[in-house]
Amino acid sequence: MNVPFYRHSLDASYASRVAKVLDTPFLTSAGVGKEVEAQLAQFFGVPHAALVNSWTNGAVAVLLALGVGRDHEVIVPAMTFIASANVVELVGARPVFVDVDPKTLLMTSDGVRAALTPATRAVIPVHLYGQMCDMLGLRRALADRPDVALIEDCAHCFEGTRDGEGPGLHSDAAIFSFYATKNVTCGEGGTIVTRRADLHELVLQTRLHGMSAGAADRFRNQLYRHWDMARLGTKANLPDLLAILLPPQIETIRERLPQREELAQRYEQALAGTPIRIPGSVPGAVHARHLFPIHVDPRQRDETLVTLNQAGIGATVNYNSVPTLTYYRNRYGYTPADFPVSQSWGEGTLSLPFFPGITTAEQERVIDVLREAVIPRLQTLDQRS
Ligand SMILES: *Cc1c(COP(=O)(O)O)cnc(C)c1O
Repeated sequence: MNVPFYRHSLDASYASRVAKVLDTPFLTSAGVGKEVEAQLAQFFGVPHAALVNSWTNGAVAVLLALGVGRDHEVIVPAMTFIASANVVELVGARPVFVDVDPKTLLMTSDGVRAALTPATRAVIPVHLYGQMCDMLGLRRALADRPDVALIEDCAHCFEGTRDGEGPGLHSDAAIFSFYATKNVTCGEGGTIVTRRADLHELVLQTRLHGMSAGAADRFRNQLYRHWDMARLGTKANLPDLLAILLPPQIETIRERLPQREELAQRYEQALAGTPIRIPGSVPGAVHARHLFPIHVDPRQRDETLVTLNQAGIGATVNYNSVPTLTYYRNRYGYTPADFPVSQSWGEGTLSLPFFPGITTAEQERVIDVLREAVIPRLQTLDQRS
């Protein structure tokens, strides 16, 4: 039996939703997107949401809106997906990496405090794998730096909470991804959620070239309206064709979370007492359970991947430490010793198949292969070292 790493669970009813948009004159951003934005703002309890065509383009739009660019620094965790740091490079600023907490693998307030300089303009905490960073602590760490924006990377955490609060409540902006494998998806997409009316107004411009009025608004009441461009923007608006896939998922995401939790706990029980490590849980957090990463001895990570893949199991890596990837190493001269927690997690981690539609038989198959072909070899190495 082959078990894929991921399989989406959008059924045939989504085709008729797309067909409805095909019946409208404009296929790009118009009425559907506005309705979804209202639904998102309500879900997060935050006044503003702007849909974008990816987390990445949304983050560029936010950084442009905040005026972050040359000579500025942005603090990002070393353990994350490359996009969290790449967006900083894309606007010409410098990503300043900080190591993560060894237990939770999340960015810490102490790490941020130590990395702040007069050039810092933003901090991008990442709610890695679905657990939220300590947003109140991070806010406190920036209490005397009103010039530093707090931008949450919520690509893994749509439905997660910490101390009863979801993303978006203590930051300048929270950015989500609706990429194919994320907990809410439309293939490609994302949203920027913010409490700040001023930032929202600017993002509406920077997500669409910097134009002063959106394409759909140019013909209000059949009359052409001139637009101006006062600042540089990118092209990050989400077409209605994709936005139409989101409402049913947003409506049901909270009631579907226990399903993910159950899958995670089945893996956790099967791995208890073996040399396989998993990230520690954050007290007071509801885990969004985006991925199920495990950690083995780095000397055996790649052979474990091969064993799983050859058994037809779609395991992958989330993630190798970002500062020592070739681009960042060449550009800034980072070495593995600079971010030891991120480095050692990155060298030993791999992610198991994990998605709501995985069948019990599929998950049992993954566990069987781990028990029969992976764990005995890990134990052998344990005895050698
Ligand atoms: C997926 C992901 C992104 C990028 O999202 P896109 O919508 O593909 O641009 C950013 N950060 C993290 C942590 C991610 O996992």
